[in-house]
Amino acid sequence: MTAPAEPPPTVASVPCREAPVPSVHALTYGQARVWNCYACEARLTSGAVYAGWSRGSQGAHVLNAEVWACP
Ligand SMILES: [Zn+2]
Repeated sequence: MTAPAEPPPTVASVPCREAPVPSVHALTYGQARVWNCYACEARLTSGAVYAGWSRGSQGAHVLNAEVWACP
């Protein structure tokens, strides 16, 4: 008998759509343009889940972007 393996610590236990929305400065180009999941950066196709707004600004410019997650 061997001890059971520890679960990998990097595996998220919550689905992408429940991950906290990062600040707009943390988004990649694709994430800020709704091409990619904001949590795992998978390419979004049909059935993406709306996750709300990622907020941020740079000087006087508001950079808020809507973010979407994997289905
Ligand atoms: Zn995802």
